[in-house]
Amino acid sequence: MTAENMLTLSAVELAAKLRAGEITAVDLTQATLDRIHAENERLNAFLFIDDAGALAVAKQVDADRAAGKELPPFAGVPIALKDNICEHGTPVTCGSKMLDGWIAPYDATVVKNIKAARLPIVGHTNMDEFAMGSSTETSAFGPSVNPWGDGLTPGGSGGGSAAAVAGYLVPWALGSDTGGSIRQPGSFTGTVGAKPTYGNVSRYGVVAMASSLDQVGPVARTVADAAALQEIISSHDPLDSTSLPEPATGLLEAADDGAKAKDLAGLRLGVVKELAGEGFEPGVSAVFEATVASLKERGAKIVEISLPSFEYAIAAYYLIMPAEVSSNMARFDGVRYGNRVEPETGPVTAETMMKETRGKMFGPEVKRRIILGTYALSSGHYDQFYGSALRVRTLVQRDLAEAFAQVDAVITPTAPTTAFKFGSKSDDLMAMYMNDMTTTPANLAGIPAMSVPAGLSDGLPVGVQVFAPAHEDARMYKVAAMIEAGTDTSARECPITVGEEA
Ligand code: GLN
Repeated sequence: MTAENMLTLSAVELAAKLRAGEITAVDLTQATLDRIHAENERLNAFLFIDDAGALAVAKQVDADRAAGKELPPFAGVPIALKDNICEHGTPVTCGSKMLDGWIAPYDATVVKNIKAARLPIVGHTNMDEFAMGSSTETSAFGPSVNPWGDGLTPGGSGGGSAAAVAGYLVPWALGSDTGGSIRQPGSFTGTVGAKPTYGNVSRYGVVAMASSLDQVGPVARTVADAAALQEIISSHDPLDSTSLPEPATGLLEAADDGAKAKDLAGLRLGVVKELAGEGFEPGVSAVFEATVASLKERGAKIVEISLPSFEYAIAAYYLIMPAEVSSNMARFDGVRYGNRVEPETGPVTAETMMKETRGKMFGPEVKRRIILGTYALSSGHYDQFYGSALRVRTLVQRDLAEAFAQVDAVITPTAPTTAFKFGSKSDDLMAMYMNDMTTTPANLAGIPAMSVPAGLSDGLPVGVQVFAPAHEDARMYKVAAMIEAGTDTSARECPITVGEEA
């Protein structure tokens, strides 16, 4: 096996080869870095590449292995981090000019967990500015490119992680999901992306977008890899007041069970009446329907459920999210974090400096959301907007709780469209926002949700989304693995050449 051919293997396969001594962590990490350097000019998936840091970890893993020391199961498998996750001593930009040049002063808890698992961190991936967007087009450093086609966005906000994993630049990566930023890029790039139950993964050290919705999660090429990565990053964290008391366990086992299951009798899957037909590309609906038909054929019981509040979920999301954004972005004031711009003319006061800094350093999407959120929270409008949105949020939670009394999991298309072209939605905000209609309900309800590649439409990948009840992340992985096992590899293997053909 050539160094390049290693890069098409899953993290589970690579870890087995590392443990068996068939490959070394240094060779694997070097091959990863070489491919990143070769492909990044085209894909713009990485904003920071850490050759020295990653190789130092890999070298130590190899030395410890040679010395017969006990190592964590995935030691030596390289990983990338979305650029809103703090890694001590490295640049973190959140895709914004505001933080260009800022160096993280400490490790996020997820990074501590990644380091404890001995995964070499090869760099930080591109994203929409402060995770606001669905295409990476709002990144101050230019968009990432979908490896499935040069003119296509990889989705967003975590398009950099998704493009890196889909393009075989790295076996897996971390993303963050506030309204779909792991799952929608997963659907667009043929990768597996999961948003854990709210509180399952610590948010400490992850730059906040909308704190009641944000959750870090895995981006991978297989369901098993995603499950393994969630287990690595999940932990109880006293530094995050919303952290759950127990970490997630048994996820990889659940994924393995799901992959092996032949007869799906006894499994009840809900299909949402309100998430079909209108608004969905016919090719997306066709893949979704074929997935449902195949699950049914294998013995699963398909139940049509109605979740009437879903119609308003996107509107509620686009009020609650900016409300929280407006408050979280207040810390970028030219004093506490990031860059400062002083006015060229007129008096320099705290106020004029802040105005100049925020005016120059934030892009239009971030400004729009700060303005929208501030307005929605202002006295006189608070109850009309924010209050109504909170009530819808409760309804979404209630509708889902009722659904889960009838079914084990709910499946939907992950996104209404396949990967769209650059520029095709950036002038039509409603169209851009509507791309999140299928993913945002899970964030509003705090439940686990993931996307798994299920087929192709016009040669582009289409993801199917699995919702499970809160704390049932294992069940979500099991169902996703069942879907994966019943699907051919065409939607999850990007047709690009990596190294020599085996
Ligand atoms: N596309 C969504 C938005 O623009 C999702 C963002 C996210 O999950 N970070 O808000």
